[in-house]
Amino acid sequence: MPIPRKVLNLLEDLIGSENVYTDEAILYAYSWDSGSLPLFSLLSDKFRFMPDVVVKAKCIEDVVNTLKIANQEKIPVTPRGAGTSLSGNCIPVKGGILLDLTSMNKIKEVNSDDRIAIVEPGVVHRNLEEELHEHGMFFPPEPGSADMCTIGGMIANNASGVRACKYGTTRDWVLSLKVALPNGEIIDTGTRALKDASGYNLTQLFIGSEGTLGVIVEATLKLFPLPEHKALIIAGYSSLDEAIKAAQLILRKLTPSSLELVTEKYVETMNKVLKRLKYPQCKAVIMIEVDGSKHEVEGQVDIVTRECKAVNPEALEVYWDEKDREELWHARHYAGFIILRMFDKAEIKIKAVHIHDVGLPLSKILDYLKFAEEEASKLGISVLPFGHLGDGNLHVNWYVDPQKEIDIQAAIKLTKKLAQKAVELGGTVSAEHGVGALRAPYMKLQHAPLIDYMRKIKAIFDPNNIMNPGKLWPEGDEKDFLEKLLEAYHQNV
Ligand SMILES: Cc1cc2nc3c(=O)[nH]c(=O)nc-3n(C[C@H](O)[C@H](O)[C@H](O)COP(=O)(O)OP(=O)(O)OC[C@H]3O[C@@H](n4cnc5c(N)ncnc54)[C@H](O)[C@@H]3O)c2cc1C
Repeated sequence: MPIPRKVLNLLEDLIGSENVYTDEAILYAYSWDSGSLPLFSLLSDKFRFMPDVVVKAKCIEDVVNTLKIANQEKIPVTPRGAGTSLSGNCIPVKGGILLDLTSMNKIKEVNSDDRIAIVEPGVVHRNLEEELHEHGMFFPPEPGSADMCTIGGMIANNASGVRACKYGTTRDWVLSLKVALPNGEIIDTGTRALKDASGYNLTQLFIGSEGTLGVIVEATLKLFPLPEHKALIIAGYSSLDEAIKAAQLILRKLTPSSLELVTEKYVETMNKVLKRLKYPQCKAVIMIEVDGSKHEVEGQVDIVTRECKAVNPEALEVYWDEKDREELWHARHYAGFIILRMFDKAEIKIKAVHIHDVGLPLSKILDYLKFAEEEASKLGISVLPFGHLGDGNLHVNWYVDPQKEIDIQAAIKLTKKLAQKAVELGGTVSAEHGVGALRAPYMKLQHAPLIDYMRKIKAIFDPNNIMNPGKLWPEGDEKDFLEKLLEAYHQNV
């Protein structure tokens, strides 16, 4: 239902007309995240999720005013950081108000004595990182999107990335949140103290809630001293089995800061963008980064290279130089998208990467990868596995033509099978990208008995269900988003 003019006028009066947008082109831009869901909308015009209005909040008061109006009028509100989500998390599937938080981007305090930073939600990870380095500190969770993503988006998605192996996820690095609730109330969920044994932990409840409970307007983050030294070891193997075996041997001896897996197609395409250095062109490559004092790093490099050699690598290289490591990591961070370089220029225009994300017990990774390859080949799909091997977080992506019904049908089948298998093996339907709209139908596979409790918790904070509705679990029917897309497509043709 369109937002009445009188409500838009009220928003303009309170937030400033220069911060309230209803222009069609702007609304369209905000109907995208960075995953494949918006691309599928190319199949059917009816499958596009535009907000009715975009509000750019400049301060807490703007957030509170927007929420109060939305709550009174029962208008959906979708908070948004940089829009780098990959599961439709920040796409306004029920329309309404899109609340852009990127202008609330001040780093309010960095305190090396307390090892904390206090930031507004729109601070970009890279900007925070640069500031923290000046203080000899860092904020360990680092998604591949660190150049763009906001701290608010990271907290709401419980994002992680390549350093989770040793340092955990965003969840492990947030001490307290200031949250604006749908009724306009502001709550502080924690303190500046590193330890707290007093009652329910609401900070943790809001982390990973994907904007469904309230709007994070400030965060107190835990920091860690910058490691003095790092080294990156890259080992190439002739099979996935060998690469995983080597990873298992390493993990029995130590916890590296990163332990990543990339498979041959990624290696090929990453090498296309790398100028100076190259990854070894092997079937499976593992990247192991270790950090600490010089002495610690040297000791860890010895152990890692010894364990890698025990499985007869085709290639083994240690990178000590910071510039070398940065170049190699940069290609890895964007590997999921660089993969499209496997197509020629004309073909790229009609290809999208369908992004997958599960968490598994380490002992089940090989079983899962074999299952994925078998099931995919039955559907005529070649999967492209990679991921954060050290913490069991796999991305078994594949590419699709988002304008082909047959590709969407295959995507629906394979996505379901892969989610089911992950849960069957003791894993999760998402490890780091979050549930969003795309994975909402699979939540019940992992959480069936708990979804009712989750709904009740949401109703306490958000009784009118205005906060990012349609995420985490399906609203109304249980249909997959892509199934709904096909329905919309058939109504069109
Ligand atoms: C190239 C690339 C690489 C990536 N690599 C990784 C990776 O390695 N690991 C990983 O975990 N993810 C990764 N991602 C996914 C994504 O970047 C992260 O989840 C990121 O943290 C999202 O931040 P954002 O600012 O873009 O949030 P958005 O996408 O704008 O929003 C994310 C969610 O948070 C909610 N939200 C945003 N701000 C607030 C707020 N202030 N209060 C309440 N809710 C809010 C939104 O409603 C939405 O549900 C990658 C994405 C890309 C494009």
